[in-house]
Amino acid sequence: QAKKTGKNRIEYYDETIESTSIKRLDLENKMRSATLDACKEFTVFFQPIVGVDGECQGAEALIRWKSEGMGLISPTEFIPLAEYLGLIHPIGDFVLEEACRHLKYWNDMGHPDYQVNVNLSVVQLLQNDIVDKIKKVVEENRIIPHNLVLEVTEGLAVNDMTRMKQILAEIKQLGVRVALDDFGTGYSSLNHIREMPLDIIKIDRCFIIDIGKDEFSESFVKMVAELAATIGVIVCVEGVETKEQYEALSKMRIQQIQGFYYDRPMQAELFEEKYV
Ligand code: C2E
Ligand code: MG
Ligand code: MG
Ligand code: MG
Repeated sequence: QAKKTGKNRIEYYDETIESTSIKRLDLENKMRSATLDACKEFTVFFQPIVGVDGECQGAEALIRWKSEGMGLISPTEFIPLAEYLGLIHPIGDFVLEEACRHLKYWNDMGHPDYQVNVNLSVVQLLQNDIVDKIKKVVEENRIIPHNLVLEVTEGLAVNDMTRMKQILAEIKQLGVRVALDDFGTGYSSLNHIREMPLDIIKIDRCFIIDIGKDEFSESFVKMVAELAATIGVIVCVEGVETKEQYEALSKMRIQQIQGFYYDRPMQAELFEEKYV
């Protein structure tokens, strides 16, 4: 479908590109108004995090966007765009607030040790008032700081690492815990385990999928678990789906499991019915 235009330029006209950019613009506009409208179309789901004994220890907060006309949109589709547009700040504040509000309730309802994990993208982490914001949400909701876990990823250029480490250190000063999410993907370096002020390492789902099939994945999880244990860092494995995976993992030095094998992300009301 090459089209000759003007001079000697050849333009490759591709219908899918055009319809993609229209869809994107539409998504952009819808996201702006949803954010302006007090984030009413966004809701926070919770997926249980369990100990190796099978007991619920809390949950990870996972955002969902129920857009009028577009249905349920996955965070992997709209979070990158929200980051690009700067809308991640109001959206992120909303998630943090919702997560802390529910955490307070669960802690008060007979589960004083439940934790809630909240994902923070790098863009959020590097904003200059992030530490104050976290301090404020902890104080206003009167939660035990230790029960709030902020999940961050390593997808950072090395020159930002110093800044990131410093911010994480300040967050830890508040008593709030820090987890390294999606470990083993992206810019992962085993050195980060030593250098970053971490409480929890979450091993990415891609290593769990291959357990029982691929020796490398199994050894990788085992090795990270051993390494983490020597420095007192908790290991959580993500994406456990089968009994086989669960059994292989339960022989390793891991402390937390998250995955469809145990339960899926769900609305707060359902989580409370089942686990609170
Ligand atoms: P993540 O933080 O690594 O979250 C885990 C993802 O794995 C979730 O996808 C969860 O639903 C999914 N998952 C859990 N167990 C299983 C399993 O056994 N099998 C499979 N196939 N998947 C499983 P979800 O909810 O679609 O979120 C995707 C990503 O979007 C998250 O990955 C996180 O990076 C991002 N995200 C979600 N909520 C937020 C948020 O509030 N703020 C920010 N900045 N990012 C968020
Ligand atoms: Mg996460
Ligand atoms: Mg993850
Ligand atoms: Mg992720």
